Amino acid sequence: ALPVVAVVGRPNVGKSTLVNRFLGRRAAVVQDVPGVTRDRIAYEALWNGKSFTVVDTGGWEPKATGMAASIARQAEYAMKTADVIVLVVDSSVGATETDLAAARVLRRSDRPVILVANKVDDERGESNAAELWKLGLGEPYSVSALHGRGAGDLLDLVLDAM
Ligand code: GDP
Ligand code: MG
Repeated sequence: ALPVVAVVGRPNVGKSTLVNRFLGRRAAVVQDVPGVTRDRIAYEALWNGKSFTVVDTGGWEPKATGMAASIARQAEYAMKTADVIVLVVDSSVGATETDLAAARVLRRSDRPVILVANKVDDERGESNAAELWKLGLGEPYSVSALHGRGAGDLLDLVLDAM
């Protein structure tokens, strides 16, 4: 079986946009409305001659009151099933309670966790990304999933972690 990379994070942080970057084509469903992506869609990706499976998570209903609990469950599931976990945070918003809940779970992971500060569309966003050190998951890796900034280096990092 191929190595599995799970992309987790709260709705609207850009998980599906990032997955599309990993795939090099538009396949994952990107929506402005949070919670539209169905739960755990797996895609096969190829980078530097290496194949792997990317799992795009979603399925948190925007109306759900238990968002933090819901994301904690997704993180637990990812820890059991993935070889590498990518936690995506919206750096333009900063760390929310939900992000902190996910981070709390993922800090216990024995699998590598890569913290992605997404929506760093330009240099000015870098200071927002640095604030995510407080999640306790190491260095926040800044990218712009939308424009591709930092995406290639992130993929190198993900493959190195496998
Ligand atoms: P998901 O719910 O986490 O899968 O988020 P989506 O990938 O559906 O993206 C949610 C919204 O954020 C969409 O409007 C995207 O275009 C936007 N978005 C995603 N990545 C970026 C980024 O790097 N920069 C900016 N400015 N917007 C982004
Ligand atoms: Mg999505």
